[in-house]
Amino acid sequence: MTAATKWVYAFSEGDGRNKMLLGGKGANLCEMTRIGLPVPPGFVVTTEACLAYLAAGRLPDGLMDDVRAHLARIEAATGKRFGARSSPLLVSVRSGSAMSMPGMMDTILNLGLNPASLTGLIEATGNERFGWDAYRRLIQLFGKVALGVPDEAFDQAMATLKQEAGVRLDIELSAEHLHDLAQRYLEVVRAKSGHSFPEDPQRQLEVAIAAVFRSWNGKRAIDYRKQFKITPQMANGTAANVCTMVFGNLGSDSATGVGFTRNPGTGEPAVYGEYLVNAQGEDVVAGIRTPKPILAMVEEMPALHAQLMKLAATLEGHYREVQDFEFTIERGKLWALQTRNGKMNAPAMVRSSVDMVHEGLIDKRRALLRVAPAMFEQLMVPRLDPSFRGKPLATGLPASPGAAAGMIVFDADTAEARGKSGAKIILVREETKPEDIHGFFAAQGVLTSRGGRTSHAAVVARGMGKPCVSGAESIVVDVRNKVAHIGPALLKEGQIITIDGSTGAVYFGEVPTVEVEFSRDMATLLSWADEAARLGVRANADGPREARRAREWGAQGIGLCRTERMFNQMDRLHIVQEMILADTKQARVAALEKLRPIQKEDFKGIFKAMDGLPVTVRLLDPPMHEFLPTVAQLELEIAHLRHFRDAIASLEEMPETLKLLNPRLHHQYEGSLSKLLGGLSEFKESHLDDDLIAKKSEVLKKVRAMAEVNPMLGHRGVRLGITYPEIYEMQIRAILEAAAECIREGLNVAPEIMVPQVVTVEELKRIAVLVETIHAGVEAASGCKVPLKFGSMIEVVRACLRAARMAETAEFFSFGTNDLTQATFSFSREDAENKFLPLYYDAGLLRDNPFEVLDVKGVGELMKLAIANGRAKRPELKVGICGEHGGEPASIRFCHHAGLDYVSCSGPRVPIARLAAAHAKLLEAEYSTE
Ligand code: ADP
Ligand code: MG
Ligand code: MG
Repeated sequence: MTAATKWVYAFSEGDGRNKMLLGGKGANLCEMTRIGLPVPPGFVVTTEACLAYLAAGRLPDGLMDDVRAHLARIEAATGKRFGARSSPLLVSVRSGSAMSMPGMMDTILNLGLNPASLTGLIEATGNERFGWDAYRRLIQLFGKVALGVPDEAFDQAMATLKQEAGVRLDIELSAEHLHDLAQRYLEVVRAKSGHSFPEDPQRQLEVAIAAVFRSWNGKRAIDYRKQFKITPQMANGTAANVCTMVFGNLGSDSATGVGFTRNPGTGEPAVYGEYLVNAQGEDVVAGIRTPKPILAMVEEMPALHAQLMKLAATLEGHYREVQDFEFTIERGKLWALQTRNGKMNAPAMVRSSVDMVHEGLIDKRRALLRVAPAMFEQLMVPRLDPSFRGKPLATGLPASPGAAAGMIVFDADTAEARGKSGAKIILVREETKPEDIHGFFAAQGVLTSRGGRTSHAAVVARGMGKPCVSGAESIVVDVRNKVAHIGPALLKEGQIITIDGSTGAVYFGEVPTVEVEFSRDMATLLSWADEAARLGVRANADGPREARRAREWGAQGIGLCRTERMFNQMDRLHIVQEMILADTKQARVAALEKLRPIQKEDFKGIFKAMDGLPVTVRLLDPPMHEFLPTVAQLELEIAHLRHFRDAIASLEEMPETLKLLNPRLHHQYEGSLSKLLGGLSEFKESHLDDDLIAKKSEVLKKVRAMAEVNPMLGHRGVRLGITYPEIYEMQIRAILEAAAECIREGLNVAPEIMVPQVVTVEELKRIAVLVETIHAGVEAASGCKVPLKFGSMIEVVRACLRAARMAETAEFFSFGTNDLTQATFSFSREDAENKFLPLYYDAGLLRDNPFEVLDVKGVGELMKLAIANGRAKRPELKVGICGEHGGEPASIRFCHHAGLDYVSCSGPRVPIARLAAAHAKLLEAEYSTE
């Protein structure tokens, strides 16, 4: 720093916008002073001075001269003198950095007191008790913050004194007691720090400023910055704000309090807060006395209440944002001590945004931008009752937001059975597989002990909008015995737990939850978002119910309908299996014909829910064996059946053997034994067991034959459609017949058929021929025109590179960024998440999980290339995204800039995406991919 560096700014000269230099508290003290609010005179020692101090280990040259000069100006303004016996000036030295870090750094009050000025203070106030109380508070705070004396040492001295005096509460202590206490505190400081408390006020001030600067590097502060990812670009060093002391503890005409200009829990436009008469600021927070609601001031101090309301209105009018402020009333005079933007919960943010627009305080742009899209996560899912303060049993990853309570169930079948009888269920598993899907339908929430935030459990739960906690590694699941261990604790099936998928916490018992509320204010705010946004928002929905819900939340269509989810439902799975296991094409077609009406009904339900809006249906995508039992499961079942058969065989021999061993016993049981054997032989003749063994063995053979080394890169997607065209034929027919029937009922449908996993345009062309033929047939048979778009998923690297060719046949592209990310990184998602990604973040090799936040630099480049080449061939090409990234705000922002037409995400994320799409447009100018 040069000699000319300005280290100190008076509150009346500092630039209220320069939080980096002055810290948030300092900048706002300057700003409040500038707009004429009653701020006690003071000045800011800059964050630059803090950094210089921390670097050199001593305060910069000349700094204390500046401080003294500024102090002289306060003295002139207040008519008081720092450290003087008559009319002594007292000050506080307060920390405050560019980012609010509440309670993480230090503040020292009542500086300037020593035996001489104390006498003066007592004379000036006529209050001896007050004087000694102020003095002992200074000794304690200074001792703790500047000299490192632990609180306990002071607390102990206080406790001893109270005991000797025979009182319980601090307020019962007399002036003499506090005088005595101050002496004991001075002794504590000497004994614990090896220094005596400095009587020289200038020295107090200098040491206090240095101590506040050091608190920037205190453990609490460092941990906090790490936790909330506060980088030096966001806040670098703390300022030290030197502020004239005002006292709220000078009698019944004095008070102190904190307020919000609006209710931070509901957004209600009324000043909300608490105050205490005859108290100092810290007492309100310390909870020693119970404060009163600010409304009570109307009775107790009506004139000051009116002033306070005016102060709040001025603050909000000036900042155009809800403010959280501190005030003190000294003998009937109101002082403003601090203000900052109020932190509110999501419902309050939404309501205040809408209200402030209606009040003319802010415009719609600002109303939208002040709400972070991710905040809507809180609103779209049930949450734990905010007043709940329990300790979690275990903690995993917050994998799908929302809270749910229910009884523990360890397998999907039991979950389904119990769910049918109306029980609330939490499915608890080590990890989940596609065949657990019916358990997901039945469960309120899912808890796994393994897997990351994009594990199967997490992805499926998010898609369904159900809470999920994944990777709770302290839980050891023992499916066989239907128990789980958490340390020494044992959880049994049927016991109730609550999971919070927004935080990852797992609680024992039922914690009360608050339901989703899609308020009118939210609808209003989101309608403004839709006006502002360029990007459309669609939903991923697999059935009519999900489609209806997505529409309520403002989806402008369906961007992805996964037909296999329909296959997976319990009543259809056996038909699907029959289809897969069919030996001949004929048998397969027969099974497919049973499925077609079922699929058709689903499509009709979806088209009805989406009347007037486009619906993109993806043809069958996953590898077939996902619908079949696993080899291990089949082997186990066959083994059980064989045991059963052997057991029956040995039962038949039993009477003879028994006769040999114990004729008396044989005689006794002969009757009932022969009855049992009679029944068994009837069973044997039915050959039920043999049949089942044969059938299962057949299935096992097929499952073995179908096994693939890398199923996700194997026989799936359009490859299935090419090898078994009858499957795609059935699906295409079901879609188009459903559409035709809906049209005849007067609905407005816009189906879009999409082909997954396309690598070459030749695949697409084959399917296009199928579609065209069936389309013509359905139109002829139904006698009505069925609008239809045909397109391709783009989720394979080659498809991106061959986009121009793809666009010859495809009328639209939909980026499947989950698979495209896997392919671009050559990471298998589950392995990456479970094994090495966490390490990669820690080592700084990757900043974000590419499966959560779209990798703009790699995957994004491929997308841009595909869009450019596709549109060069077909300018009207529609482009969307249907991977999970479609609901993630940063990825949505990229999609806006990449020129996509819409994003598609799970239903509960639609509101988030609508707001994010508006933000993307409103913040267009500030976009950078760095
Ligand atoms: P924090 O950032 O932890 O809130 P502050 O610097 O705001 O720390 O101070 C702690 C408490 O002391 C607050 O209640 C504040 O109102 C009070 N306080 C700080 N400076 C003064 C002052 N000059 N006069 C009266 N009270 C003060
Ligand atoms: Mg404060
Ligand atoms: Mg895919």
